[in-house]
Amino acid sequence: MEWCMSMPKIELHAHLNGSIRDSTVLELARELGEEGAIVFSDVEHVILKNDRALNEVFKLFDLIHIITTDHKTVTRITKEVIEDFAADNVVYLELRTTPKRNHSKGMSKRSYMEAVLEGIRSVNSVEVDLSGKLNTDASTRSHFVDDLCNGTGNKKIYVRVLLSIDRRETAEAAMETVELAIKLKDFGVVGIDLSGNPNVGQWLTFLPALECAKKQGLPITLHCGEVPNPVEIRAMLDFLPKRIGHACCFEDEEWKLLQRLNIPVEICLTSNIRTETIASADVHHFADLYKSNHPLILCTDDCGVFSTSLSAEYALASSAFGLGKSEMYQLAQKAIEFIFASERVKEDLKTIFASALTKLN
Ligand code: 5GP
Repeated sequence: MEWCMSMPKIELHAHLNGSIRDSTVLELARELGEEGAIVFSDVEHVILKNDRALNEVFKLFDLIHIITTDHKTVTRITKEVIEDFAADNVVYLELRTTPKRNHSKGMSKRSYMEAVLEGIRSVNSVEVDLSGKLNTDASTRSHFVDDLCNGTGNKKIYVRVLLSIDRRETAEAAMETVELAIKLKDFGVVGIDLSGNPNVGQWLTFLPALECAKKQGLPITLHCGEVPNPVEIRAMLDFLPKRIGHACCFEDEEWKLLQRLNIPVEICLTSNIRTETIASADVHHFADLYKSNHPLILCTDDCGVFSTSLSAEYALASSAFGLGKSEMYQLAQKAIEFIFASERVKEDLKTIFASALTKLN
């Protein structure tokens, strides 16, 4: 569907290391194989396998982390991921990643994040607004928005970063991530995510760090209800996150609470289907949430791992739920309300979407 591609889109749930190009993962794995650090033939089929249950996906992430965890590679993949989202007409991207330590490479959580930010700054095929610095200069800002509206000049994209806490981490490591996010607020970091294998870790371990983030005004999104765990789902909803991701394994009581609290849901159709969390698109909870006008945002999750793109997710939703161009445009535009960046960025995005509407028909 050509129009899904050409329409401006907002991506709010994309994991950096899940969004790496297949070709890059294979190239890096081959290099490590040549150095003798891994056996390439052992990992090649794991990388190329298409359908993985949720637990297998986390095994793949461990492999990707072995392949990608040095500063230079982190910078390279960040750059490529942004170029790919921009090529798909994503105009605002909230990219999330787990700051990692790797003593053998001299990497701290801070230096990992510096490598990510360096990757964002090093994008040159696309113009990037990071950290709102363009907003200080009215004329630069208005050119940026005009070009996005008219499709003139270089492609442009707003990029903001969420720092993820991995459920394998300790309370101290989670707090370290939140403290880092606070320090990087002026450098494009706009919020916190809780992710990682949902069968690992306890909600109470992460609560102090998440409460600290909240007190400091950092918005929070939680992976919630990827596996059946009513006690945790309830505790997460009671915490009042700004958004949640997935919401696949909710029972009636949890749906009612979610709807009463009106918490926006980041929906990742292909990811949920590929990991067999949801049997198929036609039984996905997107349909009920959409019908009841619950706030939701279509997202990719891990476009590399699941071989998808945001356009492909829009095309899938359009065909699975019988939604036309105009409904899909409205869905894309509505996401503006749920971004974690400033009101000024929201205003810019409203202008960009209004301009796109005139070209839609
Ligand atoms: P990274 O944080 O390393 O940039 O991106 C990969 C990480 O994101 C994974 O190791 C995992 O912690 C998290 N992640 C990616 N996809 C999913 C998902 O579908 N569910 C959950 N819970 N975590 C995910």
